[in-house]
Amino acid sequence: MFPGLPDVAELQLLFAQYNWMHFAGEIPSYRIAYNARFSNLAGRISHKPPLIELSPKHLAGKPGDLRETLLHEMIHAWLHALGQSSGHTPAFKKKMRELGLTSIYHDLGRAAPLNESTKRYIVRCEKCTMEVLRKKKPSANLVCARCRKPLIAFEVVEMRPVELARAALRTPPAR
Ligand SMILES: [Zn+2]
Ligand SMILES: [Zn+2]
Repeated sequence: MFPGLPDVAELQLLFAQYNWMHFAGEIPSYRIAYNARFSNLAGRISHKPPLIELSPKHLAGKPGDLRETLLHEMIHAWLHALGQSSGHTPAFKKKMRELGLTSIYHDLGRAAPLNESTKRYIVRCEKCTMEVLRKKKPSANLVCARCRKPLIAFEVVEMRPVELARAALRTPPAR
């Protein structure tokens, strides 16, 4: 639980609600979680396993930011489900405009290629939440040096830097 934020069950409901409202229910189920370790990310998505993570630090008390960040990651999930490239493609930007996220669209246009579908892997220990970033697909049998637990590999398709989420706020979000 984080103050000023919906709990994880409420997030999951929000995801289901947006899915029906904006994506005709076409997004398969994703686990929605908070990741308190993000220092400069507002949100992050992995398709394998399906997981959307949000930063409590950057989104607490900002329901507009939370909505925009969740919807942004959901567009990636939706395009992926439709078998399309999940970068910030013209289809992505079209969906953003439909959802009234035009401000992000412009800011993304100016953003450094940093967040343009850089495929990366994160290996994480679910026990101590230690995370390591890898450029290449990690081998299957890594264990946490501290806990000796098997590490779980996430294929991260996008990391959404905080500056983008911030920049998006300059224009009030369309309802
Ligand atoms: Zn560990
Ligand atoms: Zn994105």
